[in-house]
Amino acid sequence: MKKILTALLILSALLALAACQEEPQAEPTEAPAAEVESPTEAPPTEEPPPTEEPTAVPELTEEPMEEPTEAPMEEPTEEPMEETAEEPAAEMVASQSGLGDPLYPLLGNAGYDVQHYTIDLEAEPQGNTIAATTTIDAQATQALDSFNLDFAGLEISEITVDGETAEFSRDGQELTVTPATAIADGAAFTTAVTYSGVPEPIVDPGVPFTAIGWLRFLDEDIISVISEPSGAMSWFPNNNHQLDKATYTMRITVPEPYVVAANGELAETVDNGDTTTYVWEMDDLMASYLATVNIGAFERDDTIGPDGILLRNYYPAGRIDEFAPAFEPTAEMIEFFSSILGPYPYDVYGAVVLPVDGDFALETQTLSVFPQSAVDEMTIAHELMHQWLGNSLSPATWQDIWLNEGFSAYFPFLWDEHVNGPEANLLPAMGAYYEFVAGAQVPPPATVGLDNLFAEPIYVRGPLTLHALRLVVGDEVFFDIMGTYYERFAGGTASTADFIDVAAELGGEDARELLNAWLYEAEVPPFPETE
Ligand SMILES: [Zn+2]
Repeated sequence: MKKILTALLILSALLALAACQEEPQAEPTEAPAAEVESPTEAPPTEEPPPTEEPTAVPELTEEPMEEPTEAPMEEPTEEPMEETAEEPAAEMVASQSGLGDPLYPLLGNAGYDVQHYTIDLEAEPQGNTIAATTTIDAQATQALDSFNLDFAGLEISEITVDGETAEFSRDGQELTVTPATAIADGAAFTTAVTYSGVPEPIVDPGVPFTAIGWLRFLDEDIISVISEPSGAMSWFPNNNHQLDKATYTMRITVPEPYVVAANGELAETVDNGDTTTYVWEMDDLMASYLATVNIGAFERDDTIGPDGILLRNYYPAGRIDEFAPAFEPTAEMIEFFSSILGPYPYDVYGAVVLPVDGDFALETQTLSVFPQSAVDEMTIAHELMHQWLGNSLSPATWQDIWLNEGFSAYFPFLWDEHVNGPEANLLPAMGAYYEFVAGAQVPPPATVGLDNLFAEPIYVRGPLTLHALRLVVGDEVFFDIMGTYYERFAGGTASTADFIDVAAELGGEDARELLNAWLYEAEVPPFPETE
């Protein structure tokens, strides 16, 4: 989920963020169907930023605040996930029930590697019911008498493994499958899970400001899947961690006249009479939190970007003229980011604009989701940038999230610098960021807990860390570090230590020292220019 302090951040933006964090902000626009607590009303655990005014503040042109302000209509009826925010463990210990992520120990499951998901899902948007079979092609990485998937809510009617009925049991988000025949180490096997019901959004302690996963916006008659970090298990069983990426086929059937926009390429549209099946193929590896399905009255607008990349944007029906101009710079942004990092990682890109007001946006792979109120240049640059850093190159653990968000908070300023020069916004903003970070003693990015996963350490101290690195090593080495880091880990995952190693390799031990201080030390280092 994104919280993009994109803009020329400034105190007003920070104060708005504080305000957002002080109040429950996502008001359901419809009473929940069941008597349960709203996932959006969890009190913030974080202290708001200080209220001192910076002495010099650049003009604020916009301030996407990033927390979703819109709630899904359906409320979860289950308890929050079991992860806790305490003391992140230093080492990951994987088990059948989790990969041992320091912040989300139960996400993902050891013992197998998913190759491909085929999600065959029929949705009835009015009642928000789904009936689906998710087929998972995987390879065992050890001998398996049983294995786990992450899956929350919904009712399972049958599970088969290699065509034979399997036993299963459920405990919270852990679905344990016991095949009729044990699986040998290294064997390929296919699991099919058939299920139905009303998907319940996930209450994730890392994103206390909203529910995530399969979200229904009842007033707008829209369904959208926004899952970072843990929401994917709300609508399909999966190995719910970016350490196990896979390719996807999504066959989503909806009644006429709903339209489905999802990840990758629309391979086929099948007219079934009263319903239409949209077949979406995501042929590049994707983390499950980046899978999205958007169902509503959308109109598609295609253009061709650099290198023949198809740019297909989905706008609320009848409103292409209203939104298309904002996305026009996308092609040039792709060229610009490619010049720094390397070629755009996928064959297609685009956005889906939801007719919903809110300040969230998410870089769902090849099809970023924007609420209509967050369609602005810096946010568009931010989500696009994530396709390289976040989606192709993902953080090895959720505690490495600054590798997603710190970079994607800094690169829109590089775009702005490219268009308007450094004095326009980049330098004033970094000055204001430093004043804020030093004044508030914002904690370091690389040691965050669930209580500040999407907060100032990541979105303000994160980009400032990169700017400080740039000032110390100079532009040539800095951009070499960016490109080398991406090239080395593209398509997989990297840790903060991996990034620091690349920076030290190209920028010397001074770079390592600087990054260690900015990323791990509580005390805010001096701004390099002032040393
Ligand atoms: Zn982001």
